[in-house]
Amino acid sequence: MAEGLALGPIHLYAEDLSCVIRSELSPHDVPKEIVRYKAAHDSVTEYYEVAVEEAQRELGEEEAAILRSHQMILEDPYFKEELPLLVQKRLLNAEWLVLEGVQRLADTLGKSPDPYLRERVADVQDIGKQLIHRLLDIDWEAQMPGREGVVIVARDLAPSDIVRLKSAKILALVTDQGTPTSHSAIMARLLGIPVVMGAGEVSKTALSGDMLFVDGNSGLIHLNPDPRAIRRYHRKMQAAESRRTKILLAAAEPAITTDGVRITMLANIVEAEEASAALKAGAEGVGLFRTEMSFLAQGRLLSEDEQYEIYRDAVEGMKGAPVVIRTLDLGGDKLIPFMDQPAEANPFLGWRSLRVSLHHSDVFKVQLRAIVRASLHGPVKIMFPMISTTDELKRAMAILDEVEEEFAHESHGHAGQMNRGIMIEVPSAAIIIDALLPLVDFISVGTNDLVQYTLAVDRNNPRVSSYYRPADPSVIRLIRRTARWARRLNKPVSVCGEVAGQPRFAPLLIGLGISQLSMTPSLIPEVKHVIHHSSHEQSVALARRALRCSEASEVEEMLHEHYRRIPPM
Ligand code: PEP
Ligand code: MG
Repeated sequence: MAEGLALGPIHLYAEDLSCVIRSELSPHDVPKEIVRYKAAHDSVTEYYEVAVEEAQRELGEEEAAILRSHQMILEDPYFKEELPLLVQKRLLNAEWLVLEGVQRLADTLGKSPDPYLRERVADVQDIGKQLIHRLLDIDWEAQMPGREGVVIVARDLAPSDIVRLKSAKILALVTDQGTPTSHSAIMARLLGIPVVMGAGEVSKTALSGDMLFVDGNSGLIHLNPDPRAIRRYHRKMQAAESRRTKILLAAAEPAITTDGVRITMLANIVEAEEASAALKAGAEGVGLFRTEMSFLAQGRLLSEDEQYEIYRDAVEGMKGAPVVIRTLDLGGDKLIPFMDQPAEANPFLGWRSLRVSLHHSDVFKVQLRAIVRASLHGPVKIMFPMISTTDELKRAMAILDEVEEEFAHESHGHAGQMNRGIMIEVPSAAIIIDALLPLVDFISVGTNDLVQYTLAVDRNNPRVSSYYRPADPSVIRLIRRTARWARRLNKPVSVCGEVAGQPRFAPLLIGLGISQLSMTPSLIPEVKHVIHHSSHEQSVALARRALRCSEASEVEEMLHEHYRRIPPM
């Protein structure tokens, strides 16, 4: 969920092809269906002819060659000749047969030992999407950023879809699937618009053009409200707008509890451009720069120079405030073609995050060099994700040592050693925190994964989302253990998972010994407000009581009770 209210016309977003259904045809429908398919095929072919010409003229031979390889997929016998025959033989709709063909071709290419052929999988999927969009009469251009003033409704969205929507001025985002801590939801919150994920079957019932009211605070949506309801929603939206203005005015004040304890407020960002919004919202630094999102946006590896520019811009954008750059956290639900990711039964327990970086040490070194170079422009700290053993931390550190030494030599000693930190997001790391802490300068608790791994609940699976309880005593005991050891060894500890941005959680985290909270910039003012109205002493008492609980519901009730006493902004 991302907070805020919106009311506007729906635009159904069908990027993931999940809208395709299988329908049987009567023999009578076959000729019409074949004509329909051929028209779609011709239209995509024409599109490519024009695109190749334009690319040749304006971009260059390399770009034109990429488009030509897409054209060749359209010329594949399956799409050109077999599909119309199959419509006749199997009496199935063309979209379904396109989808089948795409899946079959992608499967074959995906298993090829030749990396070039494996990389063609994404192209095949892209061609499939274009054919299907033509067949379903989905306005392909309208799927692209630039569409303004609509509420995007989709069955599900991948993090890379959200990146593509980022520059579109959309009003709100609603998906049937997804959970609040999925990477897609985290990305969606960064759009700064109301977001409701896991909304049921809205993409099936709604049509493009229908009106939808979205309340990102409560998760409520209202399809085609009547004029009275619309007037009510407009009043609500006006009230929310004036509240938001007040919140922003208070954002500049430091976060100090009523009994004088200072909490550091940090921002989670995914791109350099967010730095100024982070400062405006009252962030004192970046606590988590999710670097993999730029890779996802491009769907490819970024060069050292490209990465350096991104990190440098973020560092400069923060105007002297520290920036924690997290190394790539790919895998799980964040995939790009280079990774040659085998299909895994349990991707979140598999080849993910630092494990990928250690495996592709060449890719890892390129990133580390870019970060080291960016550190010449301001205070940069480096953070390794998903540490589960001391061994992998030592391996990552050794590679960083190598890169830093190399760069120090090249730059004639200009770059000093950066502060090094790790994320505590696997229970094993919280359990051996005493062994990990001496090796690092700081730590940050990634509760999104810590909850997932501690409670064995897939953070992306709405069917088990009722088991996903950040307030579970097991989780808060692990946070407590981590914070205690950090204090004992005098190492700063922050929380950068989504709970850090949940106003009602702040007092508990503070009471558990956390003194830095890192969150989506737009959430900072509201969390600050809670801190301004809570005492540290109360927070410690709250945490003590929570630590004695045996059930998440008891802790949730306590947080709710405490939060009720905070005056509204
Ligand atoms: C986390 O796991 O809490 C975290 C901040 O990392 P991500 O959400 O990117 O996995
Ligand atoms: Mg994580």
